[in-house]
Amino acid sequence: MVLFGPSGNDEKFYADGNQSSVDAPRWLAGMGLTAYEISFGRGIRMTDKTAQVIGAQASAHGIRISVHAPYYINLANAANLEKNYHYIKRSLELLQLMGGDRLVVHTGCQMQMTRAEALQNCRDSLQIILQRLHEDGIENYWLCLETMGKYTQIGNLDEICDLCALDPKHLMPTVDLGHMNCLAQGQLDLPRVFEQIKVFPQVHFHISFIEYNLKGEIRHVTLADEKYGFDLQLVMQLLRARPGHDVVISESDRIMAQDSLRLRDFYLQKNVEV
Ligand SMILES: [Zn+2]
Repeated sequence: MVLFGPSGNDEKFYADGNQSSVDAPRWLAGMGLTAYEISFGRGIRMTDKTAQVIGAQASAHGIRISVHAPYYINLANAANLEKNYHYIKRSLELLQLMGGDRLVVHTGCQMQMTRAEALQNCRDSLQIILQRLHEDGIENYWLCLETMGKYTQIGNLDEICDLCALDPKHLMPTVDLGHMNCLAQGQLDLPRVFEQIKVFPQVHFHISFIEYNLKGEIRHVTLADEKYGFDLQLVMQLLRARPGHDVVISESDRIMAQDSLRLRDFYLQKNVEV
């Protein structure tokens, strides 16, 4: 069964009187959702204790946890290898305390290199990081390398598929359809995307609408902002044809849990008129 849930906390979560992410699994399960992504994008501030409490709550309420690693990881920057490794290892430790196994990672930026050089640095960094995680005894995890929304970032779908092929046991794509729609300037070819990811029996999805300009991504909006949208009926038709082990995360602005429900209903064809 495909799992659906938000990244972060919906404005309704707070309006309902909740204050801490510890309360999120119960609240999400009450809405009928089954996944929850926690972002360490701007830093890793969670304690082991909090991670354990969230893990117990997630387990009690049937919520699958995933984590988004810090945005400042840049695998193309070989000089940053130690820091990159530390951020990934620490994120994985907390993720595992929460009972999850999927860590979303931004691959990096091109900086002053050619695209090919930057991509090769990403490959080299990833191989070193995977080897060191193994040496440090960390197993049962997925690094979910994300398709990105700006042209200067490493992470179009070809690049992500290329990188994930390095280790099919620990690497899978985070297929961010909103980001890819930015790079495609609103002309995302959904059947082609799903054809290309067929080689991966399970992937992580980010499905949100994202405002863009000629440089790519600007900001996340909501599913109501159809100007930046793509065909969700078609997305769900293609998703239903996959093996069913995928997780779909909404990163909508403010109402990410409410939009997750909309996505789930599209998937279950609850809002299709017959
Ligand atoms: Zn991301």
